[in-house]
Order: sequence, then structure tokens, then C-alpha cells
Amino acid sequence: MAPVPASSHNSLLLPTYARAPIALERGEGAWAETADGRRFLDFGAGIAVNSLGHAHPHLVKTLTEQAQRIWHTSNLYAMPDGEKLARRLCEATFAERVFFTNSGAEANECAIKMARKYHAAKGNPERFHIITFEGAFHGRTLATIAAGGQQKYIDGFGPKVSGFDQVPFDDETALKAAITDETAALMIEPIQGEGGLRSVPMRFLKLLRELCDEHGLLLIFDEIQTGVGRTGKFFAYEHYGVAPDIMSVAKGIGGGFPMGACLATEEAASGMTLGTHGTTFGGNPLAMAVGNAVLDVILEPGFLDHVAQTALRLRQSLAQLKDHHPDVIEEIRGEGLMLGLKLKTLNTDFVAEAREAGLLVVAAGDNVVRLLPPLIIGETEVAEAVARLDKAAGAIEANLKRPAAE
Ligand SMILES: *Cc1c(COP(=O)(O)O)cnc(C)c1O
Repeated sequence: MAPVPASSHNSLLLPTYARAPIALERGEGAWAETADGRRFLDFGAGIAVNSLGHAHPHLVKTLTEQAQRIWHTSNLYAMPDGEKLARRLCEATFAERVFFTNSGAEANECAIKMARKYHAAKGNPERFHIITFEGAFHGRTLATIAAGGQQKYIDGFGPKVSGFDQVPFDDETALKAAITDETAALMIEPIQGEGGLRSVPMRFLKLLRELCDEHGLLLIFDEIQTGVGRTGKFFAYEHYGVAPDIMSVAKGIGGGFPMGACLATEEAASGMTLGTHGTTFGGNPLAMAVGNAVLDVILEPGFLDHVAQTALRLRQSLAQLKDHHPDVIEEIRGEGLMLGLKLKTLNTDFVAEAREAGLLVVAAGDNVVRLLPPLIIGETEVAEAVARLDKAAGAIEANLKRPAAE
């Protein structure tokens, strides 16, 4: 193990993260390196954020050119690049309206407020409850921790924001029983990210759409992690043939520049009239320039097909890896380039061993290790990553075989 840098012993940052003892100083494509020249293959991409890898030439050029023109104007003035990005997002999805934010949690806050306002504006303010699902993650603001429902994130922060009713994952009976006259919406990640790469079964997602139509509810998809090409489609809902009414987007859409968006149909957005919502930084010219540049690459014909093909190759290699390490790897999960190794041994140990082998991966709930490489990887990176995962799994096995008394 590399020594922990002295700075983390006397850090002035809130100690809310268990940070790995490396500082990445520069990167190119799927590779990142420390100041002292240690190179890592980055299969975390900053938790599914660096969708086009590090220092993508088109993004670097766009951001530096925009930085020389204007950084910030506020939402008091017209935003041509924001209009353009909104139009492109709507043309490529179910959506007809867009609100830009700085983060995923803010995109979800917008989605939650929009769902509540929709019913209030129709004369039903009592319909403010949103049904969410066990294992969900929707962010760390007060409303989104209530939506996610994880006690460890809620405890100690005062009264839980009311109006979030959680039901077990993939439980039709519990879901139907939870819908009342006060329900406004159902909110779900098509594939749970933090929760451990659990995919919502096709028939369950179709059922959510049917129940929403039957009861006049809005369907909210949190595609903050699954969106913008991550699963081999522009958005994961395209795999299911089920469209939401509202969708939150963030992470990959900025390729590393902080931004998010809340997308909606015109009908779902109908309550969000003049003055009902706002943001200082959301839709800022720097973010809009970069967002458009990310779409230039991702919506280029053939790009998403390449992602899907690369993903298939990675998944096949991971299946072989699982066969070689049956005592370590239990299951391969996920979709596209959002893949998970469900382990039999501790996932955090595996993440540390992978890092020792020069591969960055990310732990998730349910003892899963997530692979979220930049979407620009090719065969070379897939082969290299699998070789390093093999090394990490081998190191874990060697530890398992050591006598316990050691
Ligand atoms: C990361 C994430 C969020 C929160 O996004 P932030 O930008 O950290 O606020 C919400 N939902 C999902 C599914 C996520 O993966």
C-alpha cells in the first residue's frame, strides 16, 4: 500500500469520504495519472461522469473557447446555447421541456417539485406523495435522502421530508397497495446505481407505466447514472420501450463539467409557470457549451452502436473472469458500460486490490464492484481492464488461502 499523503491526516475537508490515498493530477482518454507518474486505467470515470474520458480534445477546445468569451450571465437573460441543448435533448428523447441544474440531486429536486406542482395546479394539492423503491439512490439533499429512503443517510438530519413512500423492489402487490388518492408520482432508476446495479425487470417497468396511466400519476425516471449513452442507448428507458413523464439527468451529460437537467413532457411540466423554480448557476454558458459538445460526440451516428459492441465484449470477458474466480465473483450485472461484479468477498477489498493492479473501479451497495468506464474505450482498454481485474481477483484468492491465524 502506498503511504497515505500527509495532507489527509490534517485535512480541513469534512471527513465525509474515505478517500483512496492517490491524487490524480492529469488524464487522457481512459487513463489518469498521479503527480509521481503512477498510471491508472480509469474504469470509474469519476462515478460515471467522465463519459468521454479525460481531456477529450473536443470538450477541452469547447470549454477553453467558451471561457474566453463569457462565463456567466444568469438566467435573467436569453441563453442561446441552453436553448440549443434543450432542443437537442428533446429531439432525441420523449421530452418537450428542460430545466438545467448543476447536479443530479438538483435535477431530482426539480422532478419532485414538478410532480407535486402538476397535481396542485390541477386543484389537487393533497396529491404530493411520491412512491420510491428499496435500494434507491436519488441524492443527498433533504428531499432526495427521503426519496432514497436509506436510513444511514437520513438519521440525524432532523425530521424526514414527508411525502415519500417506499416499497420493496419489484413487488407488484406492495406497489399497488401503496398507491392512494394522495399519490403524485412513481420515481425509479431503471438500473439502480449506488444500490448495486440491479436492473428493473422489463415487465415491472411496463407495469409502472400502466399504473401511472390508470391512476393519473407521473412516472419519473432517475437516469442520472444510466443516461447519456452509459447503457448503449442514449437513455436506458429506450431498452424497455417505456417512456417516463419526467426524467432527471446529470453525471455523464457534462463529461466532467458539473451540470444536470430535468426533462419532462409539456403536460408534466404544466405547473412550472413563471417564478415557480429557479437556480443561479444552472444552465450557465460554460455548462451549456460543454453539454452541447458532449452531445456532438455521443449523438454522432455509430457512437452508441460502438458503446454497445464494446460493452458486449467486456461482458463476455467478465463472464469468463467469473468462471476463473468462482470463489470471488458471484454474478455479473448491469447493462452496457454500467456493469457490476457481485462478489462473494468484500467489495472494498477488491476495489483496493484493483487499484494496486492499476485499475480504478467503484464500490456499490449489495457488495458490488462497479465498472463505469468512459464510453470511448475500445478493445485494448477492455483487454487491459480484464487482465487487471484478473490480477486483483488472484490477489484476493491468495489472501483467502492464507491461514486465518496469520
Ligand atoms: C449520482 C446520483 C444522484 C445524485 O447526483 P449528485 O450530482 O451527486 O447530486 C442521484 N441519482 C442517481 C441515480 C445517481 O447516480
